[in-house]
Amino acid sequence: MNLESFHRQSIEDREGFWAKQAELIHWNKPFGQVLDYSKPPFARWFLGGETNLCFNAIDRHLASQADKPALIYVSTETGEEDTYSFRQLHEEVMRMAAIMIEQGVGKGDRVLVYMPMVPQAVFAMLACARIGAIHSVVFGGFAAHSLASRIDDATPKLIVSADAGSRAGKVVPYKHLLDEAIELSAHKPSCVLMVDRKLAPMTRIEGRDLDYASQREKHLDAQVPVTWLESNEISYTLYTSGTTGKPKGVQRDVGGYAVALAASMKHIYCGNAGETYFSSSDIGWVVGHSYIVYGPLLAGMATIVYEGTPVRPDAGILWRLVEKYQVTVMFSAPTAIRVLKKQDPAYLTAHDTSSLRALFLAGEPLDEPTAQWIEEGLGRPIIDNYWQTETGWPILTVAHGIEKTPTRLGSPGMPMYGYDVRLLHEQTGEQVGVNEKGVVAIMPPLPPGCMQTVWGDDERFVDTYFSSIPGKLVYSTFDWGVRDADGYYFILGRTDDVINVAGHRLGTREIEESISSHSSVAECAVVGVADQLKGQVAMAFAVLKDPTVIATTSGRLALEGEIMKVVDNQLGAIARPSRVHFVTLLPKTRSGKVLRRAIQALCERRDPGDLTTIEDQAALEQVREALAI
Ligand code: AMP
Repeated sequence: MNLESFHRQSIEDREGFWAKQAELIHWNKPFGQVLDYSKPPFARWFLGGETNLCFNAIDRHLASQADKPALIYVSTETGEEDTYSFRQLHEEVMRMAAIMIEQGVGKGDRVLVYMPMVPQAVFAMLACARIGAIHSVVFGGFAAHSLASRIDDATPKLIVSADAGSRAGKVVPYKHLLDEAIELSAHKPSCVLMVDRKLAPMTRIEGRDLDYASQREKHLDAQVPVTWLESNEISYTLYTSGTTGKPKGVQRDVGGYAVALAASMKHIYCGNAGETYFSSSDIGWVVGHSYIVYGPLLAGMATIVYEGTPVRPDAGILWRLVEKYQVTVMFSAPTAIRVLKKQDPAYLTAHDTSSLRALFLAGEPLDEPTAQWIEEGLGRPIIDNYWQTETGWPILTVAHGIEKTPTRLGSPGMPMYGYDVRLLHEQTGEQVGVNEKGVVAIMPPLPPGCMQTVWGDDERFVDTYFSSIPGKLVYSTFDWGVRDADGYYFILGRTDDVINVAGHRLGTREIEESISSHSSVAECAVVGVADQLKGQVAMAFAVLKDPTVIATTSGRLALEGEIMKVVDNQLGAIARPSRVHFVTLLPKTRSGKVLRRAIQALCERRDPGDLTTIEDQAALEQVREALAI
């Protein structure tokens, strides 16, 4: 079978195709109908089937590999290194589930997980999956304000957190941010379960905070059976940034997600039971959900949960782990490779990485020099993947489990089975030709594993994703792309105001709202600017209520620092703009729309393009002056 006919079959006979893939997981009760698409664009998969993600990730493997490694924990921050077998993971997850049940958490209740990369974070996710609770993991790098808005949207009964994380040898305390977030949020969780790593002091809130270690002791022998869930019940929500200030809760089902991940492990990642998978991402992102926790475990693989950077204790750490644990499949981000590129290339060959079948890179564009550098240096195949939080698994890549299609530099590959990908003209909605730029769109129904809807807001799901191409009900990825004559796709950047910093998606509007909350700021614009290391960084242009505050250099620097601190405190350091420039007006159209693309072009020393709609040319001059162009 070649990829093209596999793909064609998945589109022409969706039901037959996915019914076959569904055999990869265990069903407690078989499904009656493969797909219900009676209410476009909402797709429901495997109707009436009963399954459970935790059962498929753990229990299913107990008969054949109970004593084989399931979770390998490595922290180069604290020096911890532990291996949990499938049996041990099963026990830990049941203990965590018992703690949750005792706190009144049951099917459909939300549990928010705000954790560093520790095994307990994975136990919490799997425990939720086991009892049918809905987890919502919030990246540990987000600060109080971001966390509070997610608490209010998810309204969790329980929050699982820890005293602190650690990054590059520096302790990053979490508890005070969590307390502040709960203070800010309208919704108050009834219980907060704290894992005490003894990294940072914590103040305990009586009647609300529980200590994980002592709770675990109480439930050492817990036996918690799985709760079978109908395929379309909700497994989790995961927040992602868009063009508005309010993040969207991407909502996923149970059965479709399990099938999609199991299929991707077989056809795309080619990982086998008993082998080790290593993804250097974080559980706060979709890669962490799909390819640290669920995907590898569904395939019966051991998964490495890593707390640390790619360069500590030295730039060989990732490859040392590959050698030590005989990793066969590895997943990372282009940013991590660009960080390594600044180090001695000898690290790439200092360890035996021959166990690696491939290194998958995703989350942001993989530039050609970086791809070439790592492929030559490591001597292992490099495979780019293009996908989104919304889709949960790759849209474009190559599927070496189906056919050994060669990869092409700069291209993530071709449409994966299940995705009817089109490149459409932004205005007419017509398909563009070979080598012509269009919006990367997917004809619905979206395949299994993709988001079901926006949590609590079906209308926003349709309005956001299915309404941008005039007259057509198609899913927009909000990315530009082109396809070459051989069918390889190339991604050319976002069509909206979303930026990608070190593989993390950030909404410029969120950052603008944060900056505008500073009492001196009247209004501002934030754009993403190309950066050699991080792909993009945020850059801000602010108009002040009283410009005399920055009459002196020290006044200006102090205010810039203050504004950066506001963003740090509200959203987290990842959202901090690299610079805050002060101007007295922003380039806007006559209808008042900020011309972000023109600002971005100037920041990247490009031609700002067509400016016939600009209200006042002087605003652009100010941007030029601020950038010293
Ligand atoms: P996120 O949902 O945060 O993973 O971000 C998804 C977005 O990241 C996509 O819409 C693209 O803009 C970008 N992206 C992800 N993977 C790739 C890739 N392999 N090549 C180019 N852009 C990518």
